[in-house]
Amino acid sequence: MSFAKIIGQEQVLSLFKNALKNERLAHAYIFAGQEGIGKMSFARELAKKIFCQSGKIDGACDNCNICKRIDADNFTDIFFLLPEKNHRVIKLEQLKYLQEILFVKPLESKHKIVIVEDADKMNEEASNCLLKTLEEPPLYAIILLIVTSLESVSETIKSRCQVVRFSPLSLKAMENILTDRFQLDKQLAAQLALISGGSLKRAAMFMEANALEKKHWLAEKLFEVSLKDNLTFSKELLNEWNIQDMEVLEEKRSHVKELFLLFLMYYRDILICKAGGEHFLLYYDDWKDALIAKSKSLSEKTLFKILERIKTSLKYLDCNANINLLIENMITEILYLQSDPKAWFAQ
Ligand SMILES: [Zn+2]
Repeated sequence: MSFAKIIGQEQVLSLFKNALKNERLAHAYIFAGQEGIGKMSFARELAKKIFCQSGKIDGACDNCNICKRIDADNFTDIFFLLPEKNHRVIKLEQLKYLQEILFVKPLESKHKIVIVEDADKMNEEASNCLLKTLEEPPLYAIILLIVTSLESVSETIKSRCQVVRFSPLSLKAMENILTDRFQLDKQLAAQLALISGGSLKRAAMFMEANALEKKHWLAEKLFEVSLKDNLTFSKELLNEWNIQDMEVLEEKRSHVKELFLLFLMYYRDILICKAGGEHFLLYYDDWKDALIAKSKSLSEKTLFKILERIKTSLKYLDCNANINLLIENMITEILYLQSDPKAWFAQ
């Protein structure tokens, strides 16, 4: 694929165009940024460009023998590493295997490239093993570490790599991709782009789960529920998001994440209205008047507390928390915070 087809990562692209032109590629890079913004696709394209036989300047040709074999996952000098299926972290054994692979000289080219997906998801032993590999990489090695959370990567690993930050895709770029590649109509693409925060992965997740309909349902509910409804509302949410019926934990987590993000957007919109910013783009634009009315009944302090509470729930979601309890506790606390506690205790 020509580099020109890479959308929304102009800075990253220009950095690598320069490095390639001057033959000054580093031995190790960390590609950092939220999920679904093209880090992995870029890593693959970069590797293809490095190995491509065509000599084209602006990216891989897609037609030479090597490009075709890379596309078919049949080229020995690229190695991909990611957590094993149903595992959340990369294990030490996998890193040891990667070391072995890396120390065998490239068979067909000047380089050997390893791409480690979810490189921020490693236990300490694996992370130490990676560090050893980074300390003395073979001259032909190029190591690309793909991470969503740069904070989870140890300082010693960061100090051995060049960190490349990827930005969320712009609204316009998202809309274009959703209409061109996913064949969505313009209005749907615009709405999905808006709630997906620049992440294609999130847009796909929302699309799959009919999130726009659910968003509508959630907004209607959130304007009317009060503290006494906390348990029934939590149950309704579990049903509406089909959370009870899901057997695969990762799938469950992904749906709950989507739900929490919709909560975050709702209270973010109210906070914006509170600050008089209702003319800005709102996620729940169809409910603008209701949002303004609601913003008058809540203090800024309360809204910040609610937003923090949702962010904490998002964090717990990644730490094996009990999902039903997590939802129930979050709902109860939000409804408590936005209620008038004095009125509640007086009941
Ligand atoms: Zn090629």
